[in-house]
Amino acid sequence: MIKTMLCLPLIMAITSCQSQTKKTETKMDSTKNETKVYSKTDSSKVVLPENEWKKILTPEQFYVARQKGTERPWTSPLEKNKEIGTYYCAACGNALFKSDTKFESGCGWPSFYEPITKSSIIYTPDNSHNMDRTEVQCGRCKSHLGHVFNDGPPPTGLRYCINGVVLDFERAQEAQKKFTEDKH
Ligand SMILES: [Zn+2]
Repeated sequence: MIKTMLCLPLIMAITSCQSQTKKTETKMDSTKNETKVYSKTDSSKVVLPENEWKKILTPEQFYVARQKGTERPWTSPLEKNKEIGTYYCAACGNALFKSDTKFESGCGWPSFYEPITKSSIIYTPDNSHNMDRTEVQCGRCKSHLGHVFNDGPPPTGLRYCINGVVLDFERAQEAQKKFTEDKH
């Protein structure tokens, strides 16, 4: 116990230079962490009644994630995001895409050519609006994310066209640091 107490100021001094970025991220996530389902570490499936989702999500998120809506193109700030990091499901915190698989598709929605793991995503045939499409849903909470098309770039040839409102972006601190160091 005493040992821990003695070490504490030292640890605080070491980590103090990183505290600024950490604070910002904690603030960004604080509302979601209060909910029961949002977790970046718990991979157990989430099944919630729609009225519960309505309480947790914003009206825009509920419309897209739970009612299979589509946000207006070019409206998501993440569409142009080029920062290094990870994209999570905004409803449950499931890791979905890495920034190095993001590309500019010109379609108006954040686009990726590959999910983080095969189980990150659930694929469902979607014949609505007289179109033959494949819907993509979050593998953990089954929220609607968008669609996947066959006109993406190598190596997969796929284009995951995802509504930005159901994505949470977290900057990779280590990767970002390296990126900055490389530039000097
Ligand atoms: Zn989810």
